[in-house]
Amino acid sequence: MTALRPILPENCCCDDLAPRKSLIPVHEAVSIVSSAVGPVERMETLAFERIGGRVLADTAYAAAPVPPFANSAMDGFAVRIQDFRGDGPWTFPVSGNLAAGHGYGTGLHPKSVAQVMTGAPIPNGADTVVPQEHVTFANGFAVFSSRPIAASHVRYRGEDLQQGQPVIKGGSRLGASEIAALAAAGHRKVTVRGRVRVAVLATGDELRKSGEALDGSGIWDVNSPMLRSALQSVGAEIVDTGSVLDDRRAMANELLRLAGISDLIVTTGGVSVGERDFVKAALLDAGGDIVFSGVAMKPGKPVSFGKIGRTCWLGLPGNPYAALVAWTLFGVPIHDALAGLSKARRMAIPAITATCLTHPTGRSEFRLARIEGFDGLGRTVVHCAAVTHSAKVSGLVEAVGIAEIPPDVAKVPQAGLIRFYPF
Ligand code: AMP
Ligand code: MG
Repeated sequence: MTALRPILPENCCCDDLAPRKSLIPVHEAVSIVSSAVGPVERMETLAFERIGGRVLADTAYAAAPVPPFANSAMDGFAVRIQDFRGDGPWTFPVSGNLAAGHGYGTGLHPKSVAQVMTGAPIPNGADTVVPQEHVTFANGFAVFSSRPIAASHVRYRGEDLQQGQPVIKGGSRLGASEIAALAAAGHRKVTVRGRVRVAVLATGDELRKSGEALDGSGIWDVNSPMLRSALQSVGAEIVDTGSVLDDRRAMANELLRLAGISDLIVTTGGVSVGERDFVKAALLDAGGDIVFSGVAMKPGKPVSFGKIGRTCWLGLPGNPYAALVAWTLFGVPIHDALAGLSKARRMAIPAITATCLTHPTGRSEFRLARIEGFDGLGRTVVHCAAVTHSAKVSGLVEAVGIAEIPPDVAKVPQAGLIRFYPF
């Protein structure tokens, strides 16, 4: 694990938590979080039914050759190529009939062929399969009008994977394709890393649980359900939490408690420069360190990252859209690094903007975006919101991701290239 590099002033105390004069560029902040986080050490050995979405701990090798025996790739006839002498057509008696899952004790009788179904073992002595569409079969005889291509339509033992060959590298996420390869290669259980335990702690005196009556100053907590849903999508284990009032001591106690039972604490709100934004002070009170605070982005500027002991902390802004953008950019890579994924998932795809985009330079701006279709070159075309409202949720519904207007670009022309981050 890389040592943390606090970028607050030395001997920083809460009262010194003035905003940094220079904000870190988004891509620098992403690389800081990725290199500051190492995988959880917990391992579990689980059967296939339970490994979907998990990260394989160590490289898995083929326990058996795949396929385990030579078998037919077609419904047809297993033949011995050297029996096809002289000019055709060639006629042979059919000496057997093999279905998948059934053996053929004696091997292929000399100067005969055997009918085989896809997946059936190739009888000893046969070396080639002729698809049944190319054979006339009547009264126990098969007639071949053209010479077969030697060794065709046979799936040889070990041709897909040899015994002992690496099948999947450690650090890979196990989806349907990986599980297919593991099953074919003779595995039944594999050792995976523990799921990342994530606590979501919303902060704010104004927060009420969904369904609770509002009293004129309260709002329903949007961030907790939003982030828990995002956590489910990445495969995290959600640590049960509530919200916390804007009370520095209560926050510090709660952060300390959560640090003992989580790999990552995601707070929302209270991380900006208001006089009741206590989260960073509380983190320090709880013995934590802040690695960075403030990123050159809109929305989400106050986003902060740090640690309490080995537990990571991601401080998201309170406004829901800002929190979602900062989660997408930083939370997902933090989760993936904790999960032990060796290859970072692809966060952004190149896309073409459907409209001209302008913004003040200085910060990366993330606009809600939806995919409009593809242009003549097959490139993804996205339609971006005309403005960014960090507090509004109505626009979130139609959007399927966010598009970045770079910090140093005042205007992206229509059909210009941008990065699109799918949710
Ligand atoms: P803060 O960052 O704490 O100053 O909050 C910024 C804005 O986000 C304020 O209007 C808060 O009321 C709002 N906010 C904070 N937390 C939440 C939340 N969990 N759900 C919805 N809005 C929130
Ligand atoms: Mg607040």
